[in-house]
Amino acid sequence: MSGIDCVRCGRNSAPLAERPVPGEVGREIVEKICPACWAEWQNAEVMVINELRLNFMDPKSIDILTQHMREFLLLDGKGPNLPPGIPTS
Ligand SMILES: [Zn+2]
Repeated sequence: MSGIDCVRCGRNSAPLAERPVPGEVGREIVEKICPACWAEWQNAEVMVINELRLNFMDPKSIDILTQHMREFLLLDGKGPNLPPGIPTS
């Protein structure tokens, strides 16, 4: 088995063992994102939630967080280069 080619860091890696979030987005993450990049998002997610004061009783907050996640993980293919400050090794 060849694993996945992470769209964010470009490395070939074993995929996440299970969907980290429910639904289609979770499937997309398993197919496109390596465990190391997912771990980075989990750190960033805490900051996004705190900074934007997101409330998970509010569906709009979930949408906002999902959008930040897609951008952070480059799921929509934005930017051919790695984001600044991301170590490549
Ligand atoms: Zn990666």
